Amino acid sequence: MADDTGVIRVTLWDDKATTSLKVGDAIRIENARIRLGLYDIELSVGKTARIMKPLPEDVKELPSMEELEDVIYTTKKIDEIEEDDRRIKIVGRVIDLYEPREFQREDGVGIFRSMELADDTGVIRVTLWDEKADTPLNIGDAVKIENPRVRYRNENLELSLGRDSQIEVIKGEVEDLPSFEEIEEMVYPYKSIGDLDEESENVKISGELTDLYGDRIVSYRCPRCNTRLDVSEENICNFCGEVIDEPRHLLIIPGRITDETGEIRITFFGREAEKLLGMKTEEVVDVINKTGDEGALHDKVEDLNGVHVTVIGNANFDEYNEELRFNPKKIVDIKF
Ligand SMILES: [Zn+2]
Repeated sequence: MADDTGVIRVTLWDDKATTSLKVGDAIRIENARIRLGLYDIELSVGKTARIMKPLPEDVKELPSMEELEDVIYTTKKIDEIEEDDRRIKIVGRVIDLYEPREFQREDGVGIFRSMELADDTGVIRVTLWDEKADTPLNIGDAVKIENPRVRYRNENLELSLGRDSQIEVIKGEVEDLPSFEEIEEMVYPYKSIGDLDEESENVKISGELTDLYGDRIVSYRCPRCNTRLDVSEENICNFCGEVIDEPRHLLIIPGRITDETGEIRITFFGREAEKLLGMKTEEVVDVINKTGDEGALHDKVEDLNGVHVTVIGNANFDEYNEELRFNPKKIVDIKF
C-alpha cells in the first residue's frame, strides 16, 4: 500500500483476506496493528481492524496510480539491472516467448513460462510463475514489469515474476521503446559465419543447411532431471533414480550451416527442430513408435538440405570436437 510519502506491506488475516481488492484501489484502513517485518515495519489487518472506502478528504491528496508507481519503483533499463535490485520497474518488448511448462512442486504441479524481454539497452530472460504464466502475451508486445525478483541463473541475470510481481501489456505507442524490428536489429546483430568466434552471443546468421542427420532425431529424457536416457536402460534414470513411465521426448536435428564466408556445425533442438520439420514432437514420436524405426523420418530430414535459414543464437567452442559450433535459440526465417 502506498501514498505520497512511502510504501508499506499489509497483511490481511482471516475474513479480511477475502476482501475484494485490485491493484490501483484506494482504501482506508482503520485500527490496524503495526509489526516488524523482514525488511521494515508492516501493517497487520486482523479481526479488530476495518477496511473501508476512503473518505473524500483521504483521496484529495492521494496521488494517482501512475504517480505512485514513481514513488514505489525505480525505473531501470535492462542493462542497469543488478542482482540485489528490489522494487524496480522495467518497460520492454517481448522478443521471444516459450510455451508454458509444468514443474513438480511439493504440493502438486506448478506452471511456468519463459520469455526474452528487450529494450534499447539489452535483453534479459524473464520467467513467469503460476498465475503469472497465464498472462496473455504475444511476441512484439510492450510490457511493463514491476517488482520482479532478480536472480542469477546460468551466469546470466534473470527476472522472476511471482505473486508479488506485476506484469501488464501496454497498448499503443510506448515512449522511449523502439519497435520490435528495431529492437531485433539492435539485440541480434547480423554476422557472417566466417566472422563468428567464441564471443559471438545473440547474433543472427543466415545460410544454407547441409549434412543434416535424420537417423536418430528423438532423444529420450528423464522427465524429472532431463538427463538423456539410454535406450537400453531399465526404466530408471541413472542420474536421479526416477522410475520412468513415459520419458520426455526432445527432438534433435544436427547438421551444418554455410554462407559465402564459411560454415559451422549447428544443432536444432525442441521447438526449433519442430519448426524446421513442420511437425510436432508428439507426431514424430508417433511415427517412430508406429514404424518401430528410429530413422523413419530420415528422408524428410534429408530433404531439408539446401534450405536457407536465418537463425539467432550463440557460438560456443566445443572442447570435445575442438571446433566452434552454433547453438540456435530461434529460427527467424526459413526459405524452403
Ligand atoms: Zn533423472
